[in-house]
Amino acid sequence: MLLGVVLCVGPGQSATAEEVNLYSARKEELIKPLLDKFTAKTGIKVNLVTGSADALLKRLETEGKNTPADMFVTTDAGRLHRAKAAGVLQAISSPVLEKNIPAEFRDAKGYWFGLSLRARPIMYAKGRLDPAELSTYEALADAKWKGRICVRSSENIYNQSLVASMIVANGEEATEKWAEGLVHNLARPPRGGDEDQIKAAAAGQCDITIANTYYLGGMLHSRDPSERAAAEKIAIFWPNQKDRGVHVNVSGAGVTRWAPHRDTAVKLLEYLITDEAQEWYAQVNNEYPAKPGIPESPALIKAWGRFKADTISLSQLGEYNAAAVKLMDRAGWK
Ligand code: FE
Repeated sequence: MLLGVVLCVGPGQSATAEEVNLYSARKEELIKPLLDKFTAKTGIKVNLVTGSADALLKRLETEGKNTPADMFVTTDAGRLHRAKAAGVLQAISSPVLEKNIPAEFRDAKGYWFGLSLRARPIMYAKGRLDPAELSTYEALADAKWKGRICVRSSENIYNQSLVASMIVANGEEATEKWAEGLVHNLARPPRGGDEDQIKAAAAGQCDITIANTYYLGGMLHSRDPSERAAAEKIAIFWPNQKDRGVHVNVSGAGVTRWAPHRDTAVKLLEYLITDEAQEWYAQVNNEYPAKPGIPESPALIKAWGRFKADTISLSQLGEYNAAAVKLMDRAGWK
């Protein structure tokens, strides 16, 4: 009901004024300034509704043909794939998007497009192990790490997508064995988010974790001195640099199936992949641009160095999501 009020055409506004309605699972501060720039450039008004990814997807499904939403913005290719599978997105063909977003970061048929890149490397507590002892995700199942690893729950899409990438690389059987080994090495039952794992490692509850880099970046720049102090104790190790590369994922967006303003939604997507938008969008959340050739944040490069990324098509993370979830469950990954 509230939404209906917000989207009403106000007095003095023309009913034909161009606008676009966004459902975004990204926090307002990570996208709103960019939307304002888009409006300043094009005169197209953007109505932003933010919420949790699951709630917004549910809402799109419930609203069906009556949805006011033109675009769905969320994180993780696994979730974007879920939205596609739920039938709430439509295929978009745009030479601009196809030219500027590498094929592995978008749906082959144009149901969703990656807009920023995040990496999910190994992190470790400085001084409590020699990074030369680390090598790959696979090696975290080695018995030498017993009781030394923290990781969040298997209910989390980031871990599901990591495991899906390992199924693609190593097959289901080997990945299940790996998951059993990892679970065996956990210092404590999974609880909390990525930040909580980083804090646990900093506090000495474990030595190693797997987490998205922007969480560490956020902590390093936190106003809370205790968060900064915790982050200072943690270093990043880029795994699998001698084979497929570190697991990466995207935040992205798709045009909704029943979009009332389909063409303006495509315009907005095309704006989000411009050089100016890409640089800002990646830096504001300590992420990496999805578009090649855009300068990465100098601070990020300085802090963590460059890395080789796994180049599998991220659509596969969605395709193997169900297999990953079942496998993690069988392995006892809570
Ligand atoms: Fe996140």
